[in-house]
Amino acid sequence: MDLVFVTNNPNKLNEIQSLVSHDITIKSLKDINFHDEIDETELTLEGNALLKARHIHSKYGLDCFADDTGLEIEALNGAPGVFSARYAGAECIAQNNINKVLYELKDKKNRAARFITVIALIINDEEFIFKGDCVGKITINQSGKDGFGYDPIFLPNGSKLTFAEMDKEAKGKISHRGMAVKKLVNFLMKNVF
Ligand code: IMP
Repeated sequence: MDLVFVTNNPNKLNEIQSLVSHDITIKSLKDINFHDEIDETELTLEGNALLKARHIHSKYGLDCFADDTGLEIEALNGAPGVFSARYAGAECIAQNNINKVLYELKDKKNRAARFITVIALIINDEEFIFKGDCVGKITINQSGKDGFGYDPIFLPNGSKLTFAEMDKEAKGKISHRGMAVKKLVNFLMKNVF
């Protein structure tokens, strides 16, 4: 089956294609000739994931899913959370976000954090939600070159490597997105095939 993944992020696309079974072909927004931005205007991860999936479903009538991810840092009362993409400003790059997190935590002992991913699937005109999380700590210094976003400063519990020091298969086995995708794939296997 074909499923559109509502994202323009090639890193996410790569990660997800490596996690789903070969019976499912993941199409990108580029593949369906959609080149606009969909503004994430909701105040929850679930709201934003649904907003993106509904936008594509209503325009093309295609089965699709969208995700939204947030990094919640305990000592910052859950920030940046749903604002993770724009933590250091509207047009900021990942390094600016990382710098801001490290600055905000510079005097904090508690560095506990977790990533949460929410996936909204629309299939046969019905909506479904899947969630995954990964608990860990924010490192003192950044480390690693793989991955994207906050990966260089996120050390999952039980790991000696940050997400940015892992290859995408190792990250996918324990990551928030990996957990949410596993639930999505299990659902598709049970209900669609
Ligand atoms: P979004 O889900 O693309 O809106 O991501 C929100 C923010 O979290 C962006 O700054 C992403 O770079 C970051 N982000 C999303 N997923 C990950 C991840 O797996 N690792 C690190 N950062 C991520």
